[in-house]
Amino acid sequence: MSSKRFDVAVVGAGIIGAATARELAQRGHSVVLLEAVDVASDTSCRAMGHVGVYDDDPAQVGLTKFARGLWDELGPELPAEVDFVRRGALWIASGDAEMAEVDSKVGVYARAGVEARAVDADELHRMEPNLRPGLPGALWVPGDLVLDAAEATKFLARQAVDRGVELRTKSRVRELGGDHVVLADGARVLADRIVLAAGWQSPRLLPSLPIRPRKGHIALFAPRPGYVRHQVSEVGYVRGAEPGRSESITFSFQPRSSGRYLLGASRQYVGDSLDVDPNVIGRLYARAKEFLPGIGELTIERTWAGLRPAGPDAVPILGPMPGRPNLLLAVAHEGIGITTCLATGRLLAEIVDGRPPSIPLEPFRPERLGLNPS
Ligand SMILES: Cc1cc2nc3c(=O)[nH]c(=O)nc-3n(C[C@H](O)[C@H](O)[C@H](O)COP(=O)(O)OP(=O)(O)OC[C@H]3O[C@@H](n4cnc5c(N)ncnc54)[C@H](O)[C@@H]3O)c2cc1C
Repeated sequence: MSSKRFDVAVVGAGIIGAATARELAQRGHSVVLLEAVDVASDTSCRAMGHVGVYDDDPAQVGLTKFARGLWDELGPELPAEVDFVRRGALWIASGDAEMAEVDSKVGVYARAGVEARAVDADELHRMEPNLRPGLPGALWVPGDLVLDAAEATKFLARQAVDRGVELRTKSRVRELGGDHVVLADGARVLADRIVLAAGWQSPRLLPSLPIRPRKGHIALFAPRPGYVRHQVSEVGYVRGAEPGRSESITFSFQPRSSGRYLLGASRQYVGDSLDVDPNVIGRLYARAKEFLPGIGELTIERTWAGLRPAGPDAVPILGPMPGRPNLLLAVAHEGIGITTCLATGRLLAEIVDGRPPSIPLEPFRPERLGLNPS
């Protein structure tokens, strides 16, 4: 057993753990990043990469606005492979009722100080000529970004290591102690604080965590540059993401600089298998046809599935575990972990440093869920 003691042990090198380790090291802490498999080997390498301001919940608007701003600051440092592009997001209405929803969303974004406006049918058609004619309009959020989530995770982990973080891959944690963790081979790693960032697998280490894997399928389309230029999703996406929905299929389409496109978004609570269900891909494709009738001209190159770490509400769980002050949670990022990772890292580091949080922490604290110190 090594007797070295770290300030912080971060468990999990997905995008949340990588961003948190990086931020802690930047502030001078000694950090070990413990990863069961490899950097970006689970959900963070299977996501779509829309860095957006989301309005599912008032707390989420504030968190994602703060988070997107941090990505803006980091943007100039990102290497080409992260494919960080300000495409802007269109949230498309499919009828008059959804257009009314767009108008009320304009108010939500305005109150949050986020630039957004409604576009009508003509403007929408000019922005995205391949969308079905007759769609009434959309919410336009020009500041939204897209990136390659796997490459972004690897970049954050590399920066963490450059700042002194000791990265240990193939190091599965099997137990969380008060001032240490125990690895699968029985070795102990000593640390004053432990950050749990193990994604959907976090309840294996802390069974009282109410986190379930929420499966999402993606289809990757072969290059057809210019076919769609913005991140486009249907307004109903937010309803589909509500935690209580057992299953949903909504339209979300994301252009990449390579000319390829990612198609989502499905949500299902069906266990932790990563097997692709062709029926779900078929339903995603059928939904996409309602918005992009010509999508049949594009070729699907690859399909896959990933597991969102879903909590009981629409916001992540951040902060000390009740009854275990040295154990900090950075979990339950569901469908916004790529967006919010830098914000989570910043907030966790502020907790460790005992500094006032950049945004109010209350909506994210574990206490709201009445967790037991298991
Ligand atoms: C289909 C899909 C599309 C998505 N699209 C978007 C999007 O457009 N925008 C957005 O913001 N978010 C999106 N998300 C959500 C985002 O991918 C997740 O919120 C985010 O990746 C969660 O990151 P994480 O670091 O918590 O988890 P993970 O990436 O799963 O990382 C957890 C890490 O912990 C490791 N680990 C687990 N157990 C242990 C252990 N015992 N010991 C050591 N290590 C351990 C795992 O190996 C893994 O590497 C999407 C997700 C899916 C599935």
